[in-house]
Order: sequence, then structure tokens, then C-alpha cells
Amino acid sequence: MKLKKFPKRSKLRNRFLILFTTLAVVPVLVLGATALYSIDLSHKHDVSQLGLLLAEQKINEIDKFFTDNLGILELTVDIAENQDTIAHSQQQFLLSGFLSSNSAFERVSFHQYPNGRTTAERSKDQGELPPLGYLDPNIAEIVKNRGQHIAEASYASDSPAIRLSTLVHKKDPNTNKAGEPIYIVSADTSLSSLVSSIERAGLGTAGYLILVDEKGHLIAEGSPSDIDRGENLKYLPSINRILANKSIDGLSEEDVYVSPLSDTEVITAGLVDPRTNWAVVVEWPTYDANAILQDMRNRVILFTIATLLAVLVIAPFVASRLINPIRKLENAAKAIEKGDFDTEVDINTGDELEDLGNTFNKMTKGLKRLEELKDEFVFVATHELRSPVTVIKGYLSMLKEGDAGKLPDTASDMINKADMANQRLAQLVNDLLEIARSEAGKLEISVSPVDITEPIQSSVEELQPLADEKSIQLTYENPGNVPQVLAENSRIKEVTVNLVGNAIKYTQEGGWVKVWHEVKDGMVTTHVEDNGFGMSEEAQKKLFQKFYRVQTEKTKSITGTGLGLFIVKQIIEKMNGKIWVESKEGEGSKFSFSLPVAN
Ligand code: ADP
Repeated sequence: MKLKKFPKRSKLRNRFLILFTTLAVVPVLVLGATALYSIDLSHKHDVSQLGLLLAEQKINEIDKFFTDNLGILELTVDIAENQDTIAHSQQQFLLSGFLSSNSAFERVSFHQYPNGRTTAERSKDQGELPPLGYLDPNIAEIVKNRGQHIAEASYASDSPAIRLSTLVHKKDPNTNKAGEPIYIVSADTSLSSLVSSIERAGLGTAGYLILVDEKGHLIAEGSPSDIDRGENLKYLPSINRILANKSIDGLSEEDVYVSPLSDTEVITAGLVDPRTNWAVVVEWPTYDANAILQDMRNRVILFTIATLLAVLVIAPFVASRLINPIRKLENAAKAIEKGDFDTEVDINTGDELEDLGNTFNKMTKGLKRLEELKDEFVFVATHELRSPVTVIKGYLSMLKEGDAGKLPDTASDMINKADMANQRLAQLVNDLLEIARSEAGKLEISVSPVDITEPIQSSVEELQPLADEKSIQLTYENPGNVPQVLAENSRIKEVTVNLVGNAIKYTQEGGWVKVWHEVKDGMVTTHVEDNGFGMSEEAQKKLFQKFYRVQTEKTKSITGTGLGLFIVKQIIEKMNGKIWVESKEGEGSKFSFSLPVAN
């Protein structure tokens, strides 16, 4: 059989739903809130860290730039000869080789140590230059002290460059050890790679970098403003403070100010390169740094909402899945309650629920077998009862008719009572047999077009004396044009006798019983209405079940088997009809059955 759909509002399902939702929603909300809180907390710190990281990266680039370039310069002039002078031609040769293999250098020269007089000079564009003039004596002094020097240079021009200097030593060819310095070699190298690296670098979408020398002169910057290279930027609080303090971390209040470079409030962070004392400062407009914060917040909120939605969508499915086997079991149990022992549940969850389903099916089979045994027993027993009941009936009627001679009045009275009881017994045996046949599928009914008014008329006439006994007004309205229906004549009579008989039986003296027809939608409906005891709604639901009898004060003294309506229903349904009841306690009942019109 097909299982009915489980009612949508299931308490267990709702309980699961609440459980899942609580289990999933609470942690998601807590996580979301914690994430939002920590985003806020760590934001200032993160902004500072990002700024410092970028500054450090650039400082490393600057450091590498100078290490590489000074290294190249030193290597070129590492002359392993034990002499006090180097011939002019060899100086020129060394300088020319140096320029051709190192494209970043633009000009290079030899100077006497320590007076700094130029002895040879070459430029990338002009080749050999006349060796005129002296090197800045300060540089000579510094170079002497430190071995190498990075001089203040022409980074203010369009092609920024810086002068690097190193010493050339007299060398012992045997030990290769450096002796006295004999020359200074000086070279101008282009800063353009460093400058463009600073100009291109940024934080977020609006953060920019500024590179100044140790005195605050601008070397490179990526801000939206248009300031000249070489301009002294010490008037900027960030530049002023970094040159004084070596670093700013963006965490103090002074690190946030409105920068004239971008005309907006910025958060600043920066570091100073220990070799050059140049400073790298990052200025990050607050609105942009906060936009990233807002973006992160939005993502967290979006993620939280998406997760919540997913939970809300998935939870009912999961709850339904868990509930489904229980629903199947409940529906099957309901079907069995109604006597349908062919019900089977199909649960494939692979767990205890599946085991329960299998046990349930075994139990149903057991119940079905018991039901069959009971039916068999009833059938056999009633069949065997029929002959003795018939024999008793025969002898009782012979006695009543005087076949054994005239009986005293008391004996006649007793025989009448015995006859009535025997008639009830015969009815019960017949009903039971009918049911047993019906349940064994042997209720034989063959339909053909019949005029139902005829068996109904005959039933009413037969029951008229019974109605008269209780002064019940029994009427049958036959309009004379009722179409033929597909039915079996004798069965219609059986049904009508039952329904009209019940109507008389369950109506108080002086009441009425009416029978009439209604033709509608290809069906002929016959109504049997009375103004008798009626019955509750509860009773109406069970009325067509086997052995069901309404037990009220008024009906308890009326004898019956509770089988009549059950049989009537089987018969009507076998003839493709329908039967139903409308009733109100204390007001009366209306039994109706409809049968298809024959055409
Ligand atoms: P029985 O009449 O033998 O008890 P039925 O199957 O014919 O068995 O009827 C079942 C029960 O339905 C009756 O016991 C009675 O309580 C109730 N019933 C049937 N017809 C009527 C009616 N017309 N008015 C009130 N109750 C009725």
C-alpha cells in the first residue's frame, strides 16, 4: 500500500531542527563576533606593521644597491701590483673596462691619494675626459677614514645619480695583502632603479613612500603631489621626526596627521638606513587603511550570514532525513491499526532504525498470519454452526405449527423466545460467514444495469410492520425516473434492509424515517434519513469497522452484532460505490450510498 504523507508539523522534526540550528548558529555567531572584535583590536597594530614592513623592504633594497655597487667598484680597482703609481694608459684602460661592463655607472675617475688631484677620468657618453681639478678634500678625508664613501650627489637632477668612492691600495704581490693607499677611485652611478622602486611601491590603494637623504632632501616619492627632487622635506612632521628618532611606528598620536603631500589624514611609519642615514617613510591615508578594515569586516559579516543561511537551509533537510524512517514507521503502524497487514516499511539507513524497520515488518507478517488464522477459524466455526441452527429452526417451527400436538401456553411462550434467539443466532452466523467470505475474497457480486427503486421499494414494504410497531413514519419517495445503476439486485436489497432496519432500530417511538434519491454527476445516491438517536463524530469515524457498536444509554439495550454496516460497506465498494454517514447526537442520522449510473 502507499503510505500517506506524514503531517508537515512534526514535533520531533521541530525538536531536531531547533537542536541543529542552535548547535550551528551559536558557534557561527560567536566566531563572527570574535572575528569582528579582533579585527578592530588588531587594526591599528596591523596598519603599523604593514607600514614598517614596507619601509624595511625598501631599506634592504637601498642597502643591497650600495653593497652591490661598491662591491663592483672595489673589484675593478683591486690591482695586484707592488707599485706606487699606475700608468695613465692603464688607468684609462681600467676605467673604460669598468664603464662598459657596468651600465649603471655614468662617470668614473682616478685621483691621487691623499691630495685628490684627478689623474684620469672617463664618462659613459663622452669617453676620455681631460684629467682636470681635484676631488673634494672632505671626501678624501672621509674615504681615508672609512675606506668607502657615498657622497651627497646629484639626485636632484632628472637622472638622479650618486657618487661612490673607494681606495686603491698598493699590494704585495707575494702575500696579496693591501698596503698603503695610493689612489682614490670615484664613480657616479644612476639612482633611477631605486627611485622608480620607491615611486611604484604602495600600501592599499592610496598609501605611498617617501625617500629622503640624511638631511631631509627628497630623493624619491610616490605621493599624488608634485614636489621637486632635492627639496628639503624637513618641514613635514613625519620626516622631521624620523630623522631625529631613526624610526616611527605609526602607533602614537603624532604619527597621524594631515599630510600636505596628499592633503588628507595619514598614518605614518618609517625607518632609517644605518649605512646612508637615508629615511624611508610610508604615509597611508587613514580612509584607505580603514577601507581595508571595513572590507574585512564586511567579509566576516558576509561569511557569517552565508553560513547562517546555509545552516537554516540545510537543517530542515537533515532533520527531515532523520525523521523520515520514524515517519514511515508511524504511518505503517497507523495502517496496521486500520487492519492493513500488507503494509511494509522500507528503511535503508544501515543502522538501528533499519533493524527496527525489519523487526516491524516481521511483526506485521506475524500479525497477518494471526489474522488469517482467526478468519479461518471463524469461517470454519460459523459454517459448522449453520446446520445445527437450521435444524433447531426447523424443529422449533414444527413445534409452533402443532406438529407435536397442542402445547400449553407457557411452553408456546418459551418456544417463541427460543425461536427469536435462534433467529438472532442465525443472523449472526450469516453475517460472520459473509464477512469471512468477503475477507477471503469470495464475496461474489456480479453487477448489471438494474432499477434500484424495485429492491428498495420491496425492503421498505418488508420493514413497514417493524416501523408500525414503533409508530415510526416510514416513507419512500420514488420520483419514478431514477436511472438504472450498475449493481446486483439482491445486494441492493440487503443494503437497504440493513440501513432502513437500523434507522427504525435506532429511532425512538413516534419518529420518522425517509428514503429518497439524488442523481448527480453520473451517480445515483440513495439517502436513508431518520430523526433518531444520532451519534457523535468519534463514533461516525469507527462506524463501518467490524463489530463496532455505539454504546450509549439509549442504545445499550438494543441487540445487534456490529457487523451489518461493515458488510454493507464491503458490498457497496464491491459495486464501485461509496457509503458515508452524516449524524448529530440526539438529532438523527443520514446514511447515503451512491452507485454509478449504467450507460
Ligand atoms: P448492529 O446494528 O447490529 O449493532 P451495525 O453495523 O448495523 O450493527 O451498526 C453499528 C452501530 O451503528 C450500531 O450498533 C448503532 O450503534 C449504530 N447505528 C447504525 N445505524 C444507526 C442509525 N440509523 N442511527 C443511530 N445509530 C446507528
